[in-house]
Amino acid sequence: MKTRNIYKIRSNRTYSTKDLASLLDVHVRTVQTWIPKGLKVLNTGSSPLYLKGEDVKEFLYKRNQNKKCKLKKSEMYCVSCKAPRVPDTNLRVEPNPTGITYADGNKLIILKGVCPICGSTMNKFKKEKV
Ligand SMILES: [Zn+2]
Repeated sequence: MKTRNIYKIRSNRTYSTKDLASLLDVHVRTVQTWIPKGLKVLNTGSSPLYLKGEDVKEFLYKRNQNKKCKLKKSEMYCVSCKAPRVPDTNLRVEPNPTGITYADGNKLIILKGVCPICGSTMNKFKKEKV
């Protein structure tokens, strides 16, 4: 699920599991698996289950915080291994396809490296002074 979708949830609204799934663009089953993991339900036992927007936001925010990890300067995050890794080959600098330039004039550059464990490509986004 994309993190930005959390902001679509309204704190003062009540959602059924089906409404929430379509809002977040995930399967209903995904929402249902969150319930035993600590997502609060307003009505238990009756169907459909209703969830408070505030509770859903809090649950998903905490869940995302647990996934975050701090990288050292030499490390890149491997999406396949779900862990920080030091790339085994020299870093390649890719031309930035988005052409993003920050307000202070710095440019966004993309570093590419290869994971020493699984061999997949890792990306790192960096601000470059111009
Ligand atoms: Zn890897």
